[in-house]
Amino acid sequence: MRIAIAGISHETNTYCKDPTPAEDFFQLRGERILKMAGTETSTGGALDRCHELGLEVVPILFTIAQPSGTIEREAYDQFKGEILDGLKRGQQLGAIDGIFLELHGAGVVQGITDLEGDLTQAIRHLVGEAIPITAALDLHGNVTQVMADALDGAFACHLYPHTDMHLRASEAIDLIVDMLEHDFRPVTHVETIPMLVPTTTTMLGIGKSMLKKMINAESEAGVIDVSWFHGFPYTDIPEVGGHIVVTTRGDREQAERLAKQMAATLWNERELFRPMSLTSEQALDAATACKKKPVVMNEVSDNCGCGAPGDGTHLLRSMIERDLQNTCFGFVVDAEVALQAHEAGVGATITVSLGAKEDDFHGTPLKLTGYVKALHDGRMTMLAMNKGAKLSLGKIARLVVGGIDIIVGSKRSQTFDIGPFIAVGIDVTEYDLVALKSSHHFRAGFHELAGEIITADTPGLSTHQIERFPRHNAGRPLWPLDDAANY
Ligand SMILES: [Zn+2]
Repeated sequence: MRIAIAGISHETNTYCKDPTPAEDFFQLRGERILKMAGTETSTGGALDRCHELGLEVVPILFTIAQPSGTIEREAYDQFKGEILDGLKRGQQLGAIDGIFLELHGAGVVQGITDLEGDLTQAIRHLVGEAIPITAALDLHGNVTQVMADALDGAFACHLYPHTDMHLRASEAIDLIVDMLEHDFRPVTHVETIPMLVPTTTTMLGIGKSMLKKMINAESEAGVIDVSWFHGFPYTDIPEVGGHIVVTTRGDREQAERLAKQMAATLWNERELFRPMSLTSEQALDAATACKKKPVVMNEVSDNCGCGAPGDGTHLLRSMIERDLQNTCFGFVVDAEVALQAHEAGVGATITVSLGAKEDDFHGTPLKLTGYVKALHDGRMTMLAMNKGAKLSLGKIARLVVGGIDIIVGSKRSQTFDIGPFIAVGIDVTEYDLVALKSSHHFRAGFHELAGEIITADTPGLSTHQIERFPRHNAGRPLWPLDDAANY
């Protein structure tokens, strides 16, 4: 069997001021995609499963960018064209038996609010009905029936942090093989709930208990998959919401019934998703009172992983004003300051204007004088989520300002694990407070070492206070924005 592998993955925050061009995408073509084997990513999982089953792989194009603004139309048209051309070429060289796609689910292109629907329809139109097409997606997708009808199976990761991407991709490959061996056609129903789910981890609380119900529902005979798409609330499109996506072995009524049943369960528990937000001052008070060290504090509202710039100064400013001791912050994105530190060298003392340069929303620049303690090229291997994948933060520097070790990076990324700290010689377990920018992915790398995790929700593009964003295109009424919302 020959399995084509392709993907365009982007979580689009339509509130970002700049569009995302092609050059912001990491792009792998042809055989270079095979380098992802052995990583705990979707494409890595698909490659490994194909290898285990002895399937031949036809790698076409895989491209992914940090969450950011709406994708430029030109960039998407180019990637889509390459995938379609690659499939045509692949078919000319021998029959393609199945297609695996890595998608996100929350991709928005200039003029196209449903990237995944558009792409999967075009692929289906090209290859016809006979070829199985499955996809592994991020649970933050705002997915549509259009996409589901073009695919034979849509497997969202179950976990947030997304530590099961590779396992879900493996299931997507298995479904292709199952279809080819047993000659059946799955059906998928997408049930959308008028509910914006704030980013919610599945490691604890309502996220964990709800996930358990979804996974239990998969045990019903004839059910292939139940995917709970939390949706991505930082986007102003008609498709925004929560989604239950059920795939069965051909029974459409069963898929719809089960999806509606799970959607009602989610809706009835909605109040438990309403987030409690602490300001940076409240969060730091809570950290001071906490006996278990280190306290790990995530500034949820400036998460590059949701499209925020990562250069916000709200939390760091509060820490400096309090003159906190034995604390570290990893990291603030500011390529200018990182370069300044690299030019000055280890041992130098430099005066900088740090952060808050991208917009007026994430604070004002901090005027600081700091000692350059360590420098690093920013290239590292991911240790927890996406384990084994490469990550480049650009030049990074460790500046010591009073009792705070501040890490400055050059490229936008959230903090996933202790990699950036290790790179500049910081053992986080020796600190009282470890601050970082992330919504929940950091939990995969920090939950075991943290005495306590406390979330600071400062003003920012990925605040938990999702009702603050203007909504011109979303279907209304919508929970928690409108009292009239109903399901
Ligand atoms: Zn996600």
